[in-house]
Amino acid sequence: MSTFEFVVGVVYLAAATLFVVGLHLMRAPSTARRGNLISAGGMAVAVITTIVFAAISSGGTWIGWGVLLVGVSVGAVFGIVQARTVKMTAIPQLVSIFNAVGGGAAAAVAFASFVADTDSSALSLTVSIPIVLDVLIGSVTFAGSLIAAGKLQGIISGKPLTFPGARILNVLAALVAVGAGIWALFGPPNLTLLLVVLIASLVFGLLMVLPIGGADAPVIVSLLNAFTGLAVAMAGFAINNQALIIAGALVGAAGTILTLQMAKAMNRSVGAIVLGGFGTADSSGTAAGSPAEDLTNIRQLTADDVAIQLAYAQHVLIVPGYGLAAAQAQHEVAELAKLLISHGVDVKYAIHPVAGRMPGHMNVLLAEANVPYEQMLQLDDANAAFDNCDVALVVGANDVCNPDARTPGNAVSGMPILNADHAKSVVVIKRSMRPGYAGISNPLFTDPKTGMFFADAKKGLADITTAVKEYVTA
Ligand code: NDP
Repeated sequence: MSTFEFVVGVVYLAAATLFVVGLHLMRAPSTARRGNLISAGGMAVAVITTIVFAAISSGGTWIGWGVLLVGVSVGAVFGIVQARTVKMTAIPQLVSIFNAVGGGAAAAVAFASFVADTDSSALSLTVSIPIVLDVLIGSVTFAGSLIAAGKLQGIISGKPLTFPGARILNVLAALVAVGAGIWALFGPPNLTLLLVVLIASLVFGLLMVLPIGGADAPVIVSLLNAFTGLAVAMAGFAINNQALIIAGALVGAAGTILTLQMAKAMNRSVGAIVLGGFGTADSSGTAAGSPAEDLTNIRQLTADDVAIQLAYAQHVLIVPGYGLAAAQAQHEVAELAKLLISHGVDVKYAIHPVAGRMPGHMNVLLAEANVPYEQMLQLDDANAAFDNCDVALVVGANDVCNPDARTPGNAVSGMPILNADHAKSVVVIKRSMRPGYAGISNPLFTDPKTGMFFADAKKGLADITTAVKEYVTA
């Protein structure tokens, strides 16, 4: 190893240390922003070092440098524009697209390194195994993530999409991909076999994500994120780049932990995801297609009605959901809570781990409105508090408090929910009777102790705050 290679290795190690420190800081919302910046710094160091290393060690061709420049510029402009303009509610789609490009890029790197080696009589297993694994995992991630992004964006139906024989085809695609991959490991480099691995893996990725039902999307996005990390680590082994190996391993490990935690939070099995048909429970039992505007058995409330209930309550639990994020009503809800607290009401937020459209969505949103962390109760603590709660104020949440989760045979069966129906009374703010992400009706809305306040979350909360002010200052 030359002195130059040694220095590059040390700089990569320093970049990897920045990734680890950054990841560590991302554990708490108060330090997450700093963690993000430190990790981005590490990534910048790794990218610059790689470019300098390539320039000095191999020199490269003008075409190669041109392609690199165009790639870096297009990627950087796309990344910056998207990150600056994306709506909070569309971040899961963006993460999914990032997973797709990460997995696709890793597979492309492995493929290119294989093509470059096709002249050699045989590759050593330490090179060919990571290449085959990279093409396999990267292609699954690429195809699966594009479908997941399409589902989250609403371009592809959020309903489970399947057809007779889909599972068999899925298993077949997996067998072909693995079989061709093992074959490709032995003998001289064979491009046709690697192409078979690539195509079969793309088919497997498509068939793995298409049958995923709406409410289960978060787990698959997180799983594909872990796959991206693995593919990147394999690319690192294929081209002998330590920074890629370490960064990929970190993403793979963090993504796996998040996947397991989310699967636990939704009472789903990760194994079932890979086998297909995950989250395809029959939702017909719960009126998936019931009329969106059937107002029979609905008790409608006005802002005044809600204000009276809140002003005279002792314990209030606010259940924020996707609608709060869509309406950008975090400041209004925080203002209402502050007002009630100043009036002596005990107000807390009940946070479901998959409320919204990305893990931790509600924590991030409420932190933005300076809601103190100690007011945010996580699932178990919140459920313990509902039994002693006078008013559960559900704001733009639906699936995460659907009592049908306790009965089998529907799209949210088995998912742990916030027991808002255990409160003495329930107020729901949403615009209509339309269902949430899982596409099923919610019996909480027709419960006799529930009152519906049909309004946009932002405007509805502002109206309630105005009305409460009249009571507390009267
Ligand atoms: P839901 O999607 O179940 O329900 C949101 C409700 O908000 C809708 O019923 C809608 O009713 C209402 N709403 C929408 N816009 C507004 C608005 N401007 N003002 C007031 N209300 C509004 O959300 P939940 O948070 O309860 O559940 C999250 C769901 O998303 C779960 O099924 C989860 O699995 C899934 N998911 C979660 C992800 C995550 O990582 N957190 C990622 C992907 C999916 P109306 O139209 O009548 O107003």
